[in-house]
Amino acid sequence: LAHDQLAAHKGAAPNDLEAFWLPFTANRAFKKNPRMITGAKDMHYIAADGRKVMDGAAGLWCCNAGHNRDPIVAAIRAQAGELDYAPAFQFGHPKAFALAARIAALAPGDLDHVFFANSGSEAVDTALKIALAYWNIQGKGSRTRLIGRERGYHGVGFGGISVGGIVNNRKFFGSLLAGADHLPHTYSREQQAFSRGEPEWGAHLADDLERIVALHDASTIAAVIVEPMAGSTGVLAPPKGYLRRLREICDKHGILLVFDEVITGFGRLGFAFAAERYGVVPDMITFAKGVNSGTVPMGGVVVRKGIYEAFMKGPEHVIELFHGYTYSAHPLACAAGLAALDVYRDEGLFERARQLEGAWADAIHSLKGLPNVLDIRTIGIVGAVDLAPKPDAVGKRAYEAMDVAFREHDLMIRITGDTIALSPPLILREDDIGEIADKLAKVIKAVA
Ligand code: PLP
Repeated sequence: LAHDQLAAHKGAAPNDLEAFWLPFTANRAFKKNPRMITGAKDMHYIAADGRKVMDGAAGLWCCNAGHNRDPIVAAIRAQAGELDYAPAFQFGHPKAFALAARIAALAPGDLDHVFFANSGSEAVDTALKIALAYWNIQGKGSRTRLIGRERGYHGVGFGGISVGGIVNNRKFFGSLLAGADHLPHTYSREQQAFSRGEPEWGAHLADDLERIVALHDASTIAAVIVEPMAGSTGVLAPPKGYLRRLREICDKHGILLVFDEVITGFGRLGFAFAAERYGVVPDMITFAKGVNSGTVPMGGVVVRKGIYEAFMKGPEHVIELFHGYTYSAHPLACAAGLAALDVYRDEGLFERARQLEGAWADAIHSLKGLPNVLDIRTIGIVGAVDLAPKPDAVGKRAYEAMDVAFREHDLMIRITGDTIALSPPLILREDDIGEIADKLAKVIKAVA
C-alpha cells in the first residue's frame, strides 16, 4: 500500500473504545491493548499501525477469495448505485434468483432450492424450522426432536445453541428447544493424534444414532444436524465412512439429515460443498461465510427438491412457509455472491484448495515436536494445533499465542480453548503456506 493510504488507515483508529461491546471477545483485555484492523488486500490485513498481517484465518473462515478483490468490490459498488434494497416478501429482484440458481447448481444431487438468510445462525434456525414444518405439513407433527452432536457449533440462535454441543453456549441461556439430544463427538487423541485428513478410527460413532433412535423412537425425531468437519471446536475431520453411515441410519428411520456447511462450503475442503467430497447427499445444507467471501452478511439453506415440493400445495395465494428475514436475499449480498462465485470459478479456487492440501498438511504437520504441541490436524485448507494448557489457566496459552502472533509476528490466527485454528484464504500460494508455518513456529516457541 502507498504511504498515504497507510497513513489514512492509521487515522481510522478511534480513541474511544468504550461503547462497542465486542462479540465473543475478552472486552477488558482488548480495550486495554486493542488489535485494530483498518484495511485489507488479498492475503493480508493492515493493522492500525500500518503493518501487513498475514491472514491465517480468512477473517472468521469466510474470506475464501481473499480480501478486497476487485471484481467483488466492483459488484458491490455497482449494486449499491442500481438497487439498494428490495423486499423479498412477495417481491423479487433478478440477482436473488440468479444466485440461488448458481448455488443450487454447485450443490450435489437434487439439493436445488435455496432459502436466503443473513448469517450462519439464521441459516441453522431456518433449516431446523423447515425440518419441523416439513413433518407437520405431512401429518407427522410428533417428529419434533432435533439431534446435534457434542462439540458441534451451529451459531448462537436458540435453535443452534440447543443442537450445538458447546456447553458455554447453553450454560448461560438454558436450552429452549425441548428434547434436543446429541451424538458423541468424533475426536479421540488416543486413536487419531496427528491425523492428516479423515482419521481412520471413529466411523462406528455414527452408530450411536441407533441408540438415540431406540431411546426416543424414530417417530419423535425430525432431523440430525452435523458439521461435516467441526470447525469452531477445534477442526475435527469426520472419520472415514462416518458421514455415509449417518446417512444410512437416517434413511433407515426416515430422519432428515442436515449438513451445516457454514465453514466447509465454498471450497474450504477442496469442493463446493463437503457433501461432494464425501459423496453423501444430505437433505439440507446450511451455508454462509464463503458464499460471498465474507463481504456482505448472508447465509442460507439449500433444500432437496422433495422437501420444497412438499410445501408447494394448497391454494396458490397462501404463503407456504411462515419464515423469512427483512434482509433475505439482500441485493448487495446477492451481487457480492455472484461476483465471488465468478472468482471461485475463474480462478479455480476449489480445485486449488484440493491441489494444495498435501503441501498445506506437510507444512502444518512440520510443527510437531515444538513445545506444548499435543496434536495437529489438517484437512482441506484447514489446520489445528492443540497446545497444552497452562496449569492454572485453560485457554491462556492460546490467547497469548493469538496476541503475540498479531503484534509481533504479523499473523492472524483463530483460537478456541487452547487450540489454534488456521483457515487462510484459498488464493494462498506455496510460499504463503511456508510463511504461515514459519510464523506459527515462532509463535508457539514464544508462548512456551
Ligand atoms: N454454523 C457453523 C458450522 C459455524 O461455523 C458458524 C460460525 O462460525 C455458524 C453456524 C454461525 O454463523 P454466524 O456467526 O454467521 O451466525
